[in-house]
Amino acid sequence: MQKVSELYRGKAKTVYTTEDPSLLVLHFRNDTSAFDGERIEQLDRKGMVNNKFNHFIMSKLEEGGVETQLESLLSDDEAVVKKLDMIPVECVVRNVSAGSITRRLGVEEGLDLNPPTFEFFLKNDALHDPMVNEYHIQSFGWATESQISEMKRLTFKVNDILKPLFDAAGLILVDYKLEFGLSDGKIVLGDEFTPDGCRLWDKETREKLDKDRFRQGLGSVVEAYEEVAKRLGVTLD
Ligand code: ADP
Ligand code: UDP
Repeated sequence: MQKVSELYRGKAKTVYTTEDPSLLVLHFRNDTSAFDGERIEQLDRKGMVNNKFNHFIMSKLEEGGVETQLESLLSDDEAVVKKLDMIPVECVVRNVSAGSITRRLGVEEGLDLNPPTFEFFLKNDALHDPMVNEYHIQSFGWATESQISEMKRLTFKVNDILKPLFDAAGLILVDYKLEFGLSDGKIVLGDEFTPDGCRLWDKETREKLDKDRFRQGLGSVVEAYEEVAKRLGVTLD
């Protein structure tokens, strides 16, 4: 599969067209951004680790019955994926309180959320990805009622598959963000599932092993991602 031309350069990935109009190449770059792109740094090996991590997780999700963009790995830091018509909302499930919800609701970090909670955010860096509700999504035509319920169903199904997977690796899946798109009218999981877009804590020590290491200046960011990959059995090199 050959890359033909650059379609879009995001904060962490570059998207290329291919000779096949139904397929794209995602290039996972070493760029790491926080605070809606206000802080960007290059972290050695991150593109490779995230590409392989994403492939591993999406394969597990496929096995569990979630349709994903997954096609094949192209190189260490590139993957071939189905081209989706992306829905411009982020779907977040939280098992434990952390990040924006603690600031928004004035709750402490680390509370078990029972049942896990769900939030939609609009993908818009200039507006700092504001939280939106299901009426906003329908009224502005970003997705229909049935597409919204399918995104919620699939996002919780991902939780059912991944929570035990991480638990068995000694990790708590605190929260995560998913992006979906349409392919032949069906809702398909796109973008990525990596430690850049979820929170993972060590079960015993509660050490943060995700992008909060970068956001909070804790250091050893890629080392933490590699530790998670190792515990899950992701083959890196
Ligand atoms: P951002 O756009 O937030 O800066 P990235 O750097 O990760 O994020 O860029 C990747 C872009 O590619 C995102 O806009 C994402 O919605 C889009 N994308 C991800 N997967 C697919 C796909 N399978 N088909 C089409 N677009 C995709
Ligand atoms: N997240 C993401 N991209 C975003 C916003 C959030 O991948 O643009 C992820 C984030 O890594 C975390 C979850 O979604 O795993 C919930 O993020 P939160 O709302 O707490 O925002 P944050 O404080 O992390 O910006």
